[in-house]
Amino acid sequence: MSSEKQFGRGARILRRGLMLVLSSPSGAGKTTVSRRLLQNDDNLTMSISVTTRRRRPGEVDGVDYIFVDNAEFSRMLNQKELLEHAKVFDNYYGTPIRRVEEALSAGLDVLFDIDWQGTQQVAQAARGDVASIVILPPSTRELERRLTRRAQDSAEVVARRMSKAADEMSHWREYDYIVVNDEIDDTVSQVTSILAAERLRRDRQIGLVDFVGHLRQGH
Ligand code: 5GP
Repeated sequence: MSSEKQFGRGARILRRGLMLVLSSPSGAGKTTVSRRLLQNDDNLTMSISVTTRRRRPGEVDGVDYIFVDNAEFSRMLNQKELLEHAKVFDNYYGTPIRRVEEALSAGLDVLFDIDWQGTQQVAQAARGDVASIVILPPSTRELERRLTRRAQDSAEVVARRMSKAADEMSHWREYDYIVVNDEIDDTVSQVTSILAAERLRRDRQIGLVDFVGHLRQGH
């Protein structure tokens, strides 16, 4: 669960892998932020969730989600293959453990797009390795506009997502960071800064004793 940074000719600092959780009501811009972060950062990989919901046009199985039926979801749950799971809008969602563990042991940081229920479970399982961010829309009207413009869902679904958004946002206190997505470029740079700072936390840099020892010996 670590990656390594080499300085000059000598010391290396090992770093623990980080689990960066992004939550937001649908339509607040989380998907765009995730995509941009992944494009800009080779050390970051996305956790791909399983879901029982139907695939939307444009979504790719195995990329956006792993689409499964209820029986397969129950099987994964019973076999303890999920790090966390939740029911959202009548569908089940969950995070397969294996991919996360493989990524962390390969020295990558992992990005999660999960709701508040999943965030609580991931934090319970691995508190010290988690940094959580909630992305809020600048206003309710803007959120509604974004959901309607996306037009992948019926008016009824949009209305349900609006009421679910209020529920999701009520959990803001449970997150480490709050970012309001007014301008997407600003939001991406704010989330990038959080990621950079979290990587530098002392308790994540597990090779510091040796590194500072070398420094003190004049190496
Ligand atoms: P959507 O159906 O719009 O892709 O996602 C609906 C909600 O489910 C979003 O808030 C998203 O963050 C959440 N979600 C997606 N995957 C997971 C997961 O694996 N676990 C949990 N707890 N929530 C998820």
